[in-house]
Amino acid sequence: MCGIVGYVGRRQAAPLLLEGLRRLEYRGYDSAGLAVLENGTLRLHKKQGKIDQGLAPLLHRQPLAGSLGIGHTRWATHGPPSDENSHPHLDQTGRIAVVHNGVIENFETLKQRLVAAGHTFTSATDTEVLAHLIGEHYARLGRGDVGLHPLTQAVVNALPEVTGTYGIAVVCSEHPGLIVGARRGSPLIVGIGEGEHLLASDAAALAAYTRQVVYLNDYEVVTLSAERFEVHTLGRGPTAVQVSQLDFSPESAEKGAFAHFMLKEIFEQPQTVRNALRGRLDYDGAMARFGGLNMTTAELRAVDRVVITACGTSWHAGLVGEYLLEELAHLPTEVEYASEFRYRNAPFDKHTLLLVITQSGETLDTLAGLRETKRRGHKVLGLCNVVGSTIAREADGGIYLHAGPEIGVASTKAFTSQVTVLVLFALFMGRIRMLSPQDGARLIRALEAIPGQLEWVLGQNDRIRQIALKYKDAADFLFLGRQYSFPVALEGALKLKEISYIHAEGYPAAEMKHGPIALVDPETPCVFVAPLDRIYDKTRSNIEEVKARRGPVIAITTEGNTDLAAKADDLLFVPETLDCLTPLLTVVPLQLLAYHIAVARGCDVDKPRNLAKSVTVE
Ligand code: GLU
Repeated sequence: MCGIVGYVGRRQAAPLLLEGLRRLEYRGYDSAGLAVLENGTLRLHKKQGKIDQGLAPLLHRQPLAGSLGIGHTRWATHGPPSDENSHPHLDQTGRIAVVHNGVIENFETLKQRLVAAGHTFTSATDTEVLAHLIGEHYARLGRGDVGLHPLTQAVVNALPEVTGTYGIAVVCSEHPGLIVGARRGSPLIVGIGEGEHLLASDAAALAAYTRQVVYLNDYEVVTLSAERFEVHTLGRGPTAVQVSQLDFSPESAEKGAFAHFMLKEIFEQPQTVRNALRGRLDYDGAMARFGGLNMTTAELRAVDRVVITACGTSWHAGLVGEYLLEELAHLPTEVEYASEFRYRNAPFDKHTLLLVITQSGETLDTLAGLRETKRRGHKVLGLCNVVGSTIAREADGGIYLHAGPEIGVASTKAFTSQVTVLVLFALFMGRIRMLSPQDGARLIRALEAIPGQLEWVLGQNDRIRQIALKYKDAADFLFLGRQYSFPVALEGALKLKEISYIHAEGYPAAEMKHGPIALVDPETPCVFVAPLDRIYDKTRSNIEEVKARRGPVIAITTEGNTDLAAKADDLLFVPETLDCLTPLLTVVPLQLLAYHIAVARGCDVDKPRNLAKSVTVE
C-alpha cells in the first residue's frame, strides 16, 4: 500500500514526481505529497484527497523548482487522511524529510521518549516518529560513524530502534544531492538512468524513465546521487547489487479507450489467459510444462499434501486450486488465509508443499507465511504476476501469470490468470501421479478453447449492463454456487462489495439453508452460478428454494440450457466447458455485473473507498 517515488538528477523533480505518483495512485489515494530541495531549502506540498483534486492543483498554483525530491501517495494506517498526516514528514529541525510505506509498530514508545527529549509532533502518524528518530541520530553523529555518508549513517543508526515494516525515502537540506532509501517488508526499487537515479515502491513509476532497475532486499539501505548509487546491508556493510531489466511497458498501464482500468482489464482476459497458457502446453505428454518451478519431477512426485495461502481474490483462486488438485491429482489440499496462516503453527511434514498466490508478489501476510515456511525447510512455490516482486524472488520457484500490470484495485484478470495457472499446475501434478493421457489431452483441448469462449462471454456486456441497472439500488445481494462455482460466488460477492459498497455474501448454494436463506425476500437479488455441471440438478433445487421465497434470481448457466428460463428473473450464459474450467467463464459476468452496478451508483470504480492495490501492511 502507498506509493513512494524519489528523483535525483538534472531534470525538474516536481513534474516527474507528480507523474510518478499518478502512476502509483492505485496503491493509495487518501492523500499525496512531495518534498523538493529548492536552492538548499526543503519545500513541501501535501494535500488530503486524490492527486487531481489536491496535490496537482496546489503544485500548479505554487510550483516547486529543484532537481531532487521525494513523493508519496498514502493509504492511512495511523491517523486519518488529512493534510497534516500526509507525507512527507519532517524531523524536529525541519531539515530532514521522510516518506514511508508500512507501519512502525513501536512508534508510541519512541514518541514518548522523543517528546520527553523535547520533540514536538504535528501529525498522528507513525511515520513522523521515524522522521524525528532519524533526525535525532543525524544530530548525534559522532566519530565512531565513519565510512558512510552522514545521512545514510543516521538512517542506518536509527533503523535498528524500529520494529515494524518500512520502505522509506529520506532527504536532507544539508545534502542537496542525495536520497537515502531503506526497506524492511515493503518494496523499493532503484531506477538507473543517465546522470539521474530514481527510487520507487513500484515499477509503474519507473517504466517511463528507465529499464534498468535494482530490486532492493530487506535490510538494505541505498544512497542515491545523480551519478551513482551504493547499497549497504544493515549490520553487514557494502553489498553487491544485481541490475535487472524491467519487463513493463508504460502503455500497458494506460486505460486507452476504456472508461476505467477495471473494464479494460476485464476485456483483456481472452489475451491474458492466452498469455498464461503460452508455451506451457505439452501436447505430446498431454501435460503442462513450466520454466521456473526449480523442483525436479521426483521432488514434485514426492509431494503428498499442498497448502495454499493467499488473501482476497487470490484466496478465491486458491479455493478453485483446492478443487482442481483434489480432482486432477488426488492431492490433499488446504487453503488458508495468509493473515491466519502466518500466526498458526500449522503442521507441515516433509512432503508438504506450500503454494502462495499473490498478484503483486508483495502481499505482506503472504510473504510472512512464505518466509516462515522456508525457515522451517519446506519448499515454497509462488504464483505471482509482478516480475521481480519480493515473493517472486524469495520463493524456491514459481509460475508467473504474465497478465500485464493490473491497475484496477478490484482484481479481475489476475483471478482468471491465477485459475489458468492452477489448472496447468494441477494438470502437471495429475499427470505425474494418476491422470491418464486421455484426460490430460481433453483438458488441454478445453483450455485452448477458453480465450475464444471468453470473447463470447464479453459479448454480453450490454445485456449485463441492463441487468445491473435493474438491481443497482438493492441493499443486499447473495451469491450462490456449488463445487467449482462456490469460489466464483465468493469472488462475485467480493467484487460487488469492493466497488459498489453494496453488502453481499457468497455462500455454497446448499449451505444457504443453514442461515442465509433468512435474508431472502423480494428485495434481495440472489445470483446463482449454475453452469450445467455434475451438480447442476442440486443447484437448480436451491434456485427453486429461493423462488419459493419470492427472491429475485439472476442465474449464470451454460449456453443452450433452457431449463432456467422460467425460473430465473434474469439469465446469462457461458459456453460449455469442463466442470473444472467453468470458473474461468462464469466469473466474467459477475465482474461485469459489479462493474456496471458501481458505475450506475456513481462509485469511483478504480479507486474504491478505503482500499488500495497490494496490501503491504498487516
Ligand atoms: N503508516 C503510515 C501512515 O499511516 C504509512 C502508510 C502507508 O503505507 O501509506 O501514514
